[in-house]
Amino acid sequence: MTEERSLNFLEEIIEADLRAGKYQQIVTRFPPEPNGYLHIGHASSICLNFGLTQRYPGYTNLRFDDTNPTTEETEYVESIKEDVRWLGFEWKHERYASDYFDTLFEYACQLIDRGLAYVDDLTPEQIATQKGTPTQPGVESPYRTRSIEENRDLFSRMKSGEFPDGARTLRAKIDMAHQNMLMRDPILYRIKHAQHHRTGDKWCIYPMYDFAHGQSDSIESITHSICTLEFVPHRELYDWLIEKLEIYPSHQYEFARRNINYTVTSKRKLLQLVQERHVSGWDDPRMSTISGLRRRGYTPDSIREFCSRIGVAKRENLVDVGLLEFCVREHLNKIALRRMVVVDPLLITITNYSGEVEELQSENNPESETGGTRPVPLSSQILIERSDFMEVPPKKFFRLAPGQMVRLKSAYIIRCDEVIKDGRGEVTELKCTYFPESKSGSDTSGISVKGTLHWVSLAQALPVELRLYDRLFSVEDPTDSEADFKSFLNPQSLQVIKNAYAEPALEAANESDRFQFLRQGYFVMDKDSTSDKLVFNKTVGLKDVWAKEAKKS
Ligand code: ATP
Ligand code: MG
Repeated sequence: MTEERSLNFLEEIIEADLRAGKYQQIVTRFPPEPNGYLHIGHASSICLNFGLTQRYPGYTNLRFDDTNPTTEETEYVESIKEDVRWLGFEWKHERYASDYFDTLFEYACQLIDRGLAYVDDLTPEQIATQKGTPTQPGVESPYRTRSIEENRDLFSRMKSGEFPDGARTLRAKIDMAHQNMLMRDPILYRIKHAQHHRTGDKWCIYPMYDFAHGQSDSIESITHSICTLEFVPHRELYDWLIEKLEIYPSHQYEFARRNINYTVTSKRKLLQLVQERHVSGWDDPRMSTISGLRRRGYTPDSIREFCSRIGVAKRENLVDVGLLEFCVREHLNKIALRRMVVVDPLLITITNYSGEVEELQSENNPESETGGTRPVPLSSQILIERSDFMEVPPKKFFRLAPGQMVRLKSAYIIRCDEVIKDGRGEVTELKCTYFPESKSGSDTSGISVKGTLHWVSLAQALPVELRLYDRLFSVEDPTDSEADFKSFLNPQSLQVIKNAYAEPALEAANESDRFQFLRQGYFVMDKDSTSDKLVFNKTVGLKDVWAKEAKKS
């Protein structure tokens, strides 16, 4: 594939580095914290990190940033691996920050030995209150001047579990008046008596993000460590620690977080939605998670295309979910199998039909020359969409009305002769005649009609459940206010249609198939399907052809 777009700023940096001979190959990493399922924002980071090493010589590691034992779980590790692979990427090494706990402890001891770290008896809360403000220097801790020996002793006693949580920390000794607040003697280690999902109870002290991330990058010889903008102020500390420890000089680069509107992209918030049962789980098709998008029927190609289109930026912005929908619609249009499903049925009896079932053929996908056809049965009783009939139609209503003709998709032209109603005046059935010489593909009837309807034959119809989704939140940015983001949940985000009628070909559906239900939208089979009832999730709608027609006229 030829690349048409111009280089993003990271590609420019990397190309310059490669030209200058600074590196023979580049090494990147995707570093999730396993405290939740990945979301669409992570997909940007994944496509970026893995994309760079597909384009340039080198490789990408998957590194679990598992330094917080209380929020991390193996279930999340497994889901993250599944999602990265599903998106189409393969990592070189699977690593864990917790693999480096021994090395990190060693590094901490080296800093103590060089007089660059000390054990502080203040609590993290006290430390926070003594940090000062951007315009006011912080206060030096009374424990800052401890001897190296005492620091060493206390630090190893912290490790051996002698002190309770929060009783002591290890801090870097930098500068309490530093312009960058993060450089005011940042905490490197905290005491936390907690089971870790990988190291069990081996450790009761855990490194802070700043003392794990850059060091892990160094250990893995990461050349370009790419993170999001909120880490810009951390870069100074990142560089300071690498320099003082004299370890491999990884470099941190920042790009803007990618968030989309009408949803939330924060594992913590998504977890709340799951725990408080606002959604059915992490893979609820309304969620912004990769697993939710997968269950909704999104394809890996469409998500990669979305990430490529939004590109890499240095300024944050909210991306319109419409672009994501556009990308999946484009892809599904190329690959989806066309099927007919009637959502709100109205019975038609074709009065001049012989009564025998005729097997018609209908194209699986007009976009694909090799798509082939499928058999579609026709009999004297069929179902059409109730909204495709109007007793008193407005002008330009090209669907069915008394005396009016339409084509049944891949079948014949029919004319509505009689409208049957029940006692309450509701239309219950239409009596129609069909024109045998108007068969699709060999039409010699000379009749021309403007409307083509989807339909299913009643006797062979398969009852199916459809789940239709709307935006999970009713405002563009539910986090952009004082109010609880959950107060903006859209109460109409899920609509279940218990009894829709599908053509029999759908019986053979499986979860990896993608369908276009004619005139309805794109659908995928849900894992809740049983042999008694198939369930389909609506991925995205088609462009509304009728609305466009109406506007034109
Ligand atoms: P969350 O708030 O959802 O937990 P996070 O940044 O804490 O997000 P991590 O697991 O630490 O999640 O993220 C792994 C990588 O993905 C990091 O490099 C992070 O910068 C990146 N990332 C996370 N969210 C986004 C986003 N919305 N857009 C782009 N990159 C993101
Ligand atoms: Mg995080």
